[in-house]
Amino acid sequence: MKDTLKHQGLRNQLAKAIAAKGIENKNVLAAIAKIPRHLFLDSSFESFAYQDKAFPILADQTISQPYTVAYQTQLLEIMPGNKVLEIGTGSGYQTAVLMEMQAEVYSVERQNELFKKTKLFLPKLGYRPRHLGFGDGYKGLPDHAPFDKIIVTAGAPFVPKALLAQLKLGGMLVIPIGTTKQLMYLYKRTAVKHFEKHELEACKFVPMLEKKN
Ligand code: SAH
Repeated sequence: MKDTLKHQGLRNQLAKAIAAKGIENKNVLAAIAKIPRHLFLDSSFESFAYQDKAFPILADQTISQPYTVAYQTQLLEIMPGNKVLEIGTGSGYQTAVLMEMQAEVYSVERQNELFKKTKLFLPKLGYRPRHLGFGDGYKGLPDHAPFDKIIVTAGAPFVPKALLAQLKLGGMLVIPIGTTKQLMYLYKRTAVKHFEKHELEACKFVPMLEKKN
C-alpha cells in the first residue's frame, strides 16, 4: 500500500490527459489527481495504473477507464451531499471519485468475491461509503431510495425500470446501454412520470448481468 511522489506525478499527468479529452469539471479532475488508482489494481498492473485504460480486476471484471469514470461523473453534475446510487462497485475506484466529490454513496455489486474485497479495501484508504451491498443492481436499493443521482457502471441491455423509479424529481441517471456495442444515456426525471432521455457517446463496459454470483 505504498503511494509515492512518482505515483502522484503520474496521476497529475493522467488528470491532464483526461482534461485534454474534454473533461472540464475541476472537482472531477481533482479527484482523479488525488486517488491512488494503482492501489485499486492487482500489483502486476501497478506500472500501468495511470494509463487511461481499463484493466482486469477479480472475477473477470474490469476497473473502468479513467476517462469513462470522469465522463460519467461529470454528466451527473455531482454536488456535495448528493445521495448517489452506484450499480457495479467493482474495484471501488468510481466510488472513491464520487466520495472525493462529497457525495453520499450507496453502491451495489453482484460478484460476492469482489464485493467482499472492496468492502475491506475502501476503508483502508479512508473511504467509508454510506452503503456497500451485495445484490442485484437491476433492483436498485428500494429501501434507501430516492436518490439524487444514479450511475450504472456495467453495460445494460435496457434501462431498468426500478432504477428510474428510484430517482428523485430532478434527479439524473447515467447508464451505458447495449450488449456488444454500447451508447451512454442520460435520463433526467422532469416530472413524476416524465423522463428526458439524452443519447451520448459510444462506450465499452463489461455486461450488467442478472442474478447474483
Ligand atoms: N465502477 C467499477 C467498474 C466495475 S466493472 C470500478 O470503477 O471499478 C462493472 C461492475 O459491475 C463489475 O464489478 C460487475 O461485477 C458489476 N455488475 C454487473 N452486473 C451487475 C448487477 N446486475 N448488479 C450489480 N453489479 C453488477
